[in-house]
Amino acid sequence: AQRPFPVIQKVVASMAHLQEEKLRLQEELLALQEKLAARESEEIAASVQLRGQVENLKANLREQAQEIGRLRSEMGGTDAEKHRDLLAAENERLRQEMKAREGELRELRRQQAACRDCTHLQENAGLQERLCQLQREAEEARAKLAELELEVQQKTNRLAEVELRLKDSLAERAQEEERLSRRLRDSQETIASLRAQPQQIKYIIKTVEVESAKAKQALCESQSRNQYLQEQVGMQRQVLKEMEQQLQSSQKTAAQLRAQIAMYETELERAHGQMLEEMQAMEDEKNRAIEEAFSRAQVEMKAVHENLAGVRTNLLTLQPALRTLTHDYNSLKRQVRDFPLLLQETLRSARAEIGQAIEEVNSTNRELLRKYRRELQLRKKCHNELVRLKGNIRVFGRVRPITKEDGEGPEAVSAVTFDADDDAVLHLLHKGKQVSFELDKVFPPQASQEEVFQEVQALVTSCIDGYNVCIFAYGQTGAGKTYTMEGTSANPGINQRALQLLFSEVRSKAADWDYAISVSVAEIYNEALRDLLGKEPQEKLEIKLCPDGSGQLYVPGLTEFSVQSVEDINKVRH
Ligand code: ADP
Ligand code: MG
Repeated sequence: AQRPFPVIQKVVASMAHLQEEKLRLQEELLALQEKLAARESEEIAASVQLRGQVENLKANLREQAQEIGRLRSEMGGTDAEKHRDLLAAENERLRQEMKAREGELRELRRQQAACRDCTHLQENAGLQERLCQLQREAEEARAKLAELELEVQQKTNRLAEVELRLKDSLAERAQEEERLSRRLRDSQETIASLRAQPQQIKYIIKTVEVESAKAKQALCESQSRNQYLQEQVGMQRQVLKEMEQQLQSSQKTAAQLRAQIAMYETELERAHGQMLEEMQAMEDEKNRAIEEAFSRAQVEMKAVHENLAGVRTNLLTLQPALRTLTHDYNSLKRQVRDFPLLLQETLRSARAEIGQAIEEVNSTNRELLRKYRRELQLRKKCHNELVRLKGNIRVFGRVRPITKEDGEGPEAVSAVTFDADDDAVLHLLHKGKQVSFELDKVFPPQASQEEVFQEVQALVTSCIDGYNVCIFAYGQTGAGKTYTMEGTSANPGINQRALQLLFSEVRSKAADWDYAISVSVAEIYNEALRDLLGKEPQEKLEIKLCPDGSGQLYVPGLTEFSVQSVEDINKVRH
């Protein structure tokens, strides 16, 4: 892009120049550094060479010294001494030479050191300084460029202003031209009217026409100009119209915004008012609350004061009570302290008392037991006496209720009758004749199993006391033997009831007696004795007399099960 201002161009050119200069200086610097490096390597090589020479000389010296030593040991005498002197001189010379070489080496090193601040380095430093300066200058030039660009901007703005003003003046000119064209039209009208006038004024017309030709030309010119200006005006009007439209739209927006603002303002005012009202209300409420709280607090305060007075009087009355309480407390404390001792003592005496009481009870128990045993003996004796008095063999009759098998009609019912006054008598109607029997007791059909059992119950006691007991049922089939002895499960007969009683009696005496109960079941049928619990029920057994002379009978080989309860027996039977 073409720079519009020469100053900027100049600055840019100088910057480019400076850049070039910088590059060139950097190149020079590089070349100088290379040269310096080359010289340094040369010097290092020289010093190495010199060091090598010095080393050689030292080696020579060492050899000479060895030679001297060797000669000294070999020769001895004056020749050797001479040789030694010679060698010493040689040695001395060599040492001098070495010193000289060392001096040269030092000189070279010094030179090398001196070269550290030689002209090249100085030049280098100068160039670098210059480079810095140039960079600074470039910076300044850039700042200046920015300033200039700002200026250009300002000028462009001013140009826009000027254009605006030019437009205004053009508008003015357009107005002027319109005015002129109006005047031209007027004058043309005047000419036309004059033409319409009579001949005497034709001269005037002619002159006017001559003038008019000139005027026409001018008019033409001005019309063309007018044309141009009108075009311009048209354009301007277009612009104006657009601007007006813009203005209108922006006015509309402004109106809208104003309306909105007004709306917001009213809203704001309303809110403000509301807020003020609320604040007022809150303030009122606060004041009211404060007043209320104050009055309440006063009332409470009064009550508290009264309470305080009451509490004070209470306190005065409580003090003596407290004193007595303290006294009580102290005595209680003493008691508590003494309590363990007291307790121990009490326990000791209680234990002694209890021991004594136990002893007493024991002795009473023993006494009672003794008495009980005596009573038991007495009872046994009485029982046996009773049994004896009742008769060792007793015969009871039981008449069962009439069954279907007995037939129907009045005969069946009246076959057996009882004596109302004697329960031991039974009347039997046999072939039209009444026969009477006397037994120990007769049970009528309505007698229960319980009643029948009560009559044989004493036999169980005899059995426990060690006597042999036998209950024997006799009668024709269907007379009721099984019913009386076995009964039903709901209404058991003598067997079950006797066993129940036997075991309960044994249990109640278990503390003092040892009992062993065993069960055997045998059948005597057609003179044959059979073991019903045995493994071979067909085997025939025999009844024998006990060999101990007691006169007791026993059946050798009869199966015996020892049992503990009625249930055990029932299990054995099944
Ligand atoms: P047995 O054993 O003597 O042959 P049962 O005991 O079998 O005779 O009795 C025969 C019938 O009579 C059975 O049906 C039995 O229930 C009934 N029976 C016997 N004695 C009574 C009684 N005292 N009360 C009611 N029914 C009885
Ligand atoms: Mg039977």
